[in-house]
Amino acid sequence: MAAPPETLDVRTMKDWTIVVAEDAIPSERYAAEEFRTFLCQATGHELPIAAAATVGGNVFIGPSPALRASDLAHLMDAAYVEEELRVVVATNIIAIMGGRPRGVLYGVYQFLEDALGVRFLAKNFTHVPRYQADDPLPRRGVLTPMDYAYRPLVSCRFVAFPDLQDTTAQFQARLRVNGRYREDPSVEPEWSKRVGGFNRNGLVLHNINSWLRASPQEHPEYYAADKDGKRPVSHQPCFSNPDVVDRITANVLKDLRDFAPGAMIPMAQEDASLCECERCQALVREHGLDPFGGGGENWGAPLFLAINHVAREVAKAQLENGSELYCERIGMRHFSIQSRYRKGAMDFRIPYGHGS
Ligand SMILES: [Zn+2]
Repeated sequence: MAAPPETLDVRTMKDWTIVVAEDAIPSERYAAEEFRTFLCQATGHELPIAAAATVGGNVFIGPSPALRASDLAHLMDAAYVEEELRVVVATNIIAIMGGRPRGVLYGVYQFLEDALGVRFLAKNFTHVPRYQADDPLPRRGVLTPMDYAYRPLVSCRFVAFPDLQDTTAQFQARLRVNGRYREDPSVEPEWSKRVGGFNRNGLVLHNINSWLRASPQEHPEYYAADKDGKRPVSHQPCFSNPDVVDRITANVLKDLRDFAPGAMIPMAQEDASLCECERCQALVREHGLDPFGGGGENWGAPLFLAINHVAREVAKAQLENGSELYCERIGMRHFSIQSRYRKGAMDFRIPYGHGS
């Protein structure tokens, strides 16, 4: 019979040290503080935070010379994307690694939830289980060795609750909600650094004009018309205008290098009436829909065709670079669009239409 795996009892971590590099970024230092706070509440052990490892046992938070000199040095050889995280637990060592700027902090929260059972229930209430030496349940606080890695599939996560969108962003970070309105001035700068900032692209909705980069005054023909052809009636682009599509595509390609492999490029219509010009109407009809039916939702075709064009051009550019890309879009109610490109292989889908 195989010997049972060696375990780590968190109640025995009294002499451990939390190790974080001298030159750690603010969010990794904050990650170490969060680890200390909640481990202390759970076990009563208030661990020191230091740059050097000790013989008692170490929790390595982020990359450091001390981690490089440890048994888990190989964790520093991996490349991590922005919010990718890795949590390794062994009998006398814990290491939490991840991409910058938020991977390590999110890795700490992952550990606190999964290993300690901490639950961030509200801005001012966190449930922290207690692990005490006289606990009648022998398994509580006993961790089996693990090596857990995670890369978020959805790159921008946002919930418009006031408790999440407050001046500190502390609660939203604890829940790994990284979305914020672009350049939101309400977050205190110190807190912004502590939580590792936010998804760099702002929200995933109402952003198409940040790609079009034009103005209705200069180019009324780029913007929505009413059904008599009068423009601009709103700041919504006219998605059947080839110049609009070319311009959006060119701007996405220009900024492509800002997006890490596997990143999502956010692209969605503005919160404004869609174009009803004859060209847009014709595209809707070409795709079997009545422009004036479907409660207004049949107008999606020009938008999705434009975004698909961008996705195809992006895929070509990525394939030429030999890198890989995954694009995913969720459109308006009743509409969805997904495109996925991998080296050489393509799976391209456009399910749209009223009620589908
Ligand atoms: Zn139009």
